Amino acid sequence: MARRSIVLGAGMVGVSIAWHLAQRGHEVTLVDRREPGRETSFGNAGIIQREAVRPYPFPRDMKTLLGVLPNRRVDIRYRPGGMIHAASPLLRYWQNSAPKAYQRIVPEYASLIQLCLDTHAPMIEAAGAENLIKKQGFLELFRSSSRLDKRLKEAKEGQARFGVAFQHLDRTALAIKEPDISDDIVGAIHWLDPWTVSDPGALVASYAKAFQASGGRVLQSEVKGVSQQADDQWEVQTEHETRQADDVVIALGPWAGRWLKPLGYHFPTFVKRGYHMHYASQASAHLNHWVMDAEVGYLLAPMQAGIRLTTGAELDDLEAPAHVSQLAAAEKAARGLFPLGERRDEAPWKGARPCLPDMKPVIGPAPKHKGLWLAFGHGHQGFTLGPATGQLLADMMDGQPTVIDMEPFKADRF
Ligand SMILES: Cc1cc2nc3c(=O)[nH]c(=O)nc-3n(C[C@H](O)[C@H](O)[C@H](O)COP(=O)(O)OP(=O)(O)OC[C@H]3O[C@@H](n4cnc5c(N)ncnc54)[C@H](O)[C@@H]3O)c2cc1C
Repeated sequence: MARRSIVLGAGMVGVSIAWHLAQRGHEVTLVDRREPGRETSFGNAGIIQREAVRPYPFPRDMKTLLGVLPNRRVDIRYRPGGMIHAASPLLRYWQNSAPKAYQRIVPEYASLIQLCLDTHAPMIEAAGAENLIKKQGFLELFRSSSRLDKRLKEAKEGQARFGVAFQHLDRTALAIKEPDISDDIVGAIHWLDPWTVSDPGALVASYAKAFQASGGRVLQSEVKGVSQQADDQWEVQTEHETRQADDVVIALGPWAGRWLKPLGYHFPTFVKRGYHMHYASQASAHLNHWVMDAEVGYLLAPMQAGIRLTTGAELDDLEAPAHVSQLAAAEKAARGLFPLGERRDEAPWKGARPCLPDMKPVIGPAPKHKGLWLAFGHGHQGFTLGPATGQLLADMMDGQPTVIDMEPFKADRF
């Protein structure tokens, strides 16, 4: 008889796991209170980030920290209440960002990132979603030569150690690729490997359709409870029905931590919230690539719905109300970078990157329960890493060897 698996959470991570399990013959139910891909996996910048071999460390130099304090930066904002609630994970994040600890983390993180294109490719094909994908990389823009030089050094290291491909664009070369970008930009790094997605939510939805086409079931219902029965079976209560399974996967993104507490797991989860807004472009202006204004800290993405501006991180509680100031500051800078037109959305979209203090996700079995599997904490790159996570977790669930060492992603490291 096929193993019955229930995957909780239909973001990029949960949908990818469900797809892989269905490919391996599991009888899979994918549960989400919304349609697939409507939360964090909907509103992101849509880059499948093959270049992101170095996860985002917490700033440690005094100049940056002092710059963050007045709370006016575009790339990072904080709310004191949110900082206090997440004080312990943030302290551990800061410690893990110290040079020695960080240098240990980079190759572990890179081992996962290196799988991203090869694992998205078969899902894109199965979903017939090629129309959503562009394979032209993205541009990281710099306003000062010193910051560009520093980043070029990292890019060269990434190339030598992890096979990252890039091209340095001086002002003239950049102007050919992006004629409407401001002269304040002195140069750019063109990351050549990444793929960009013109509607991230639609890609997740198309992966979910491919999952259904291969026999999987999507249940749109609020999860109310997860419990282990005496006979090693699992029971999931939802608003609409109660289901039994041999395996349950927790892929609830920013909500995962709170669902694991009643099961006796206290993971140091926290979130980095982010916003987006779509814009028209003025008159004949055209943005050809996804561009990141690296020194200011936001991104412009020419998507189907318009030019999507995504913000950097806001440290606050997951469910705290939206604050408009960070997006407003990013918009002001973006209007100086590129001739944006009017806003296209009534209100900004708000989401939350699901984070863990060592910048790596948890992927693997729950230490205290047979049949409980975990996949969350993908931070800045969950859209990139969903399919790799799906492949790896499905291999682990089937007792098969994995293509990379999973030790760095084990749950019991916390
Ligand atoms: C502004 C911004 C830009 C980003 N840009 C990028 C990028 O360019 N590239 C990249 O790789 N990553 C990017 N990210 C990060 C990426 O979006 C996330 O890491 C990723 O979407 C997380 O996916 P997930 O499946 O873990 O979570 P989600 O997509 O949030 O999925 C979790 C699901 O759980 C469901 N859920 C929660 N509670 C319940 C319940 N009680 N019952 C039923 N269902 C429930 C939710 O409805 C949701 O669908 C960005 C994030 C932000 C905020």
